[in-house]
Amino acid sequence: MASVVETYLHRIQSACTPMDAGTLADYIPQLAAVDPDRFGVSVVVHDGHVYSVGDSTIEFTIQSISKALTYALALRERGFDDVDAQIGVEPSGEAFNEISVDHRTRRPRNPMINAGAITATALLLQRPHDDEGTRDDSGTAVDEAFALILEFYSGCAGRHLTMDDEVYRSEMATGSRNRAIAYMLESFGVFPSDPEAAVDLYVRQCSVTVTSDDLAAIGSTLANGGVNPRTGRRMLDTAVTRRVLSVMTTCGMYDGAGDWVTTVGLPAKSGVGGGILAVLPGQLGIGVYSPRLDEHGNSVRGVEACRHLSDDLGLHMFNVA
Ligand code: GLN
Repeated sequence: MASVVETYLHRIQSACTPMDAGTLADYIPQLAAVDPDRFGVSVVVHDGHVYSVGDSTIEFTIQSISKALTYALALRERGFDDVDAQIGVEPSGEAFNEISVDHRTRRPRNPMINAGAITATALLLQRPHDDEGTRDDSGTAVDEAFALILEFYSGCAGRHLTMDDEVYRSEMATGSRNRAIAYMLESFGVFPSDPEAAVDLYVRQCSVTVTSDDLAAIGSTLANGGVNPRTGRRMLDTAVTRRVLSVMTTCGMYDGAGDWVTTVGLPAKSGVGGGILAVLPGQLGIGVYSPRLDEHGNSVRGVEACRHLSDDLGLHMFNVA
């Protein structure tokens, strides 16, 4: 028998399914070829229980949702000082792939736009104890750093995740904008690794496949202060978790962030693969998958489903009872 929660999720599914506005990402053929009607909604609550409806086990590429996770990993591996020296925490209000940096500090404005995310991958490639600042940008370094990323994402999701090789190759073949961003940052003189290696690692992480169940599980790990509630494994400390949730709140939904915070009021991150991950700190993780995107690159049904959840269940973080 369906639980009360599942019955409620079915209601959300029925309310949002008629929404067919928006378009698929089409900058690579693999994203343009997905079934646009796919729709999955998942919630993982504080004891690790998963509630889901629709296409909640269909895999899609995580894309920009990876930015939040790799930022967390960079903070864990490199510490706040090193990361903050390279990446700001101010919302940019610009598109995700804008070639933008803070004019004064010459740092990317935040880790949720491509410039900041590529810097986070570069930090994982930099050898922390090398006083000379010597780089190791060999293929092995990228492989090792990607193994660490995959292990971390998998630990947060509670299952072994993999990468979609075709998406990876396609993104590498069309990645001029991301290369331009990395080389621009390098031209300022303090980029932590070889720009090509950083872009390669960034594109690999964007090509990791997840389901809406996985996103909800990852969200529940963040909601739970960095401990995966299903496995009991600590992935992040509470200070890093708090930082990541803060930046997701202000910058996670690209140039739609202000609208998102006022209406939904949850830390969240979206990706052009059609996924949205949202978090109610202390309570639950939400994952939605629906590939049609609005003008900001956020899933149309995903935003609407989160709005429903937030309104109906009173999840907005600034609700005063
Ligand atoms: N791979 C994409 C890019 O960097 C991810 C973009 C996204 O999800 N917004 O261009």
